[in-house]
Amino acid sequence: MAQIRIENVRKEFGAFTAVQSSSFTIEDGEFFMLLGPSGCGKTTTLRMMAGLELPTSGRIYIDGEEVGQKPASQRDIAFVFQMFALYPHMNVRRNISYPLLSQGMPRLQVRRKVDEVAAILGITDILERPVGGLSGGDRQRVALGRAIVRDPKAFFMDEPLGALDAEFREHMAQELRALHDRMGATTVYVTHDQLEAMQMGDKIVVMNHGVVEQFGVPQDIYDWPATRFVAQFLGSPPMNFLEFDGMIGIGGTEVVLDGVAVAVPRSLDGANGRLTLGVRPEYVTPDDAAAYRGRVVATEYLGTTQIVSFETPNGALKARIASDQVIRPGQTTGLRFDPRTITLFEGQHGRALH
Ligand code: ATP
Repeated sequence: MAQIRIENVRKEFGAFTAVQSSSFTIEDGEFFMLLGPSGCGKTTTLRMMAGLELPTSGRIYIDGEEVGQKPASQRDIAFVFQMFALYPHMNVRRNISYPLLSQGMPRLQVRRKVDEVAAILGITDILERPVGGLSGGDRQRVALGRAIVRDPKAFFMDEPLGALDAEFREHMAQELRALHDRMGATTVYVTHDQLEAMQMGDKIVVMNHGVVEQFGVPQDIYDWPATRFVAQFLGSPPMNFLEFDGMIGIGGTEVVLDGVAVAVPRSLDGANGRLTLGVRPEYVTPDDAAAYRGRVVATEYLGTTQIVSFETPNGALKARIASDQVIRPGQTTGLRFDPRTITLFEGQHGRALH
């Protein structure tokens, strides 16, 4: 069990800064996601927490102890990498036993511990089989077994499901989360997949270009993105952005788009200039009584819902609505936005005004 805290941690590779000064805390027992596009610095951040990379500056604490300059071997943690490197000439039991035997644990104790881990993972019946002939899922479980058998303080996983096909990936994600809930060990997990991050994570850090854009629980990040980047990176289709020139007085509760007043949450105070109104597709409703107008350019059937693309005076917009609602390309309709879920972004840096 471990709380992990990073404080103003920064990593440079020569003249290139991979991670800008970053700070956040991972609480004991949390399933914590490092999320962002390729090259944003999430792997480097994980490797610094784990001790595989030393920070250029800043501090890293595990359970209050500063470990920033300590190697991985002294941090009592375990890795699960994307490529599950098992020992192919050994059977499953030997693979899982290996970390304990190399620590010098007595054989009988190792046997008991491996039996216990195999029961947790549901692989008791394959313990004596060679790993060579196992299915992908079983190999994954054996690799997990090898990581959890030492009872480390924390697990570090770098895109562990990246190589799997979609269906199996979903299944393993659920298994991994269930395993975490049974064991309760702090887990730090790198992914570029926003759905995986929202489904599995207790908390998420969203990174972009080496900068922590936002840190929080999935629902807050989804509903209240701190920046345009976060709003766009999470959600499928992503949040809509409508640009306009505007001004919101203190206590302002509406903005004017194309001459039409649109209600916004009361918290949006004191902005002016070039603004962007952000609204998620599921909070846009076609409604003929609404004054703000859009023209349907396409519809995409998705089973129970459909995505309708509109052209509006302030830019393109998508709505997710029930698929039994009849709406046709070429049609013009009013559009209603749920005011509770609107986010306004300032023009220059794309930061949210809330
Ligand atoms: P990916 O998902 O593609 O691995 P990432 O978000 O995990 O992306 P990092 O692997 O942390 O990103 O890399 C961040 C940046 O730092 C990248 O531009 C990468 O090229 C650079 N980088 C990483 N390791 C090194 C290194 N050892 N030397 C030089 N540059 C590096």
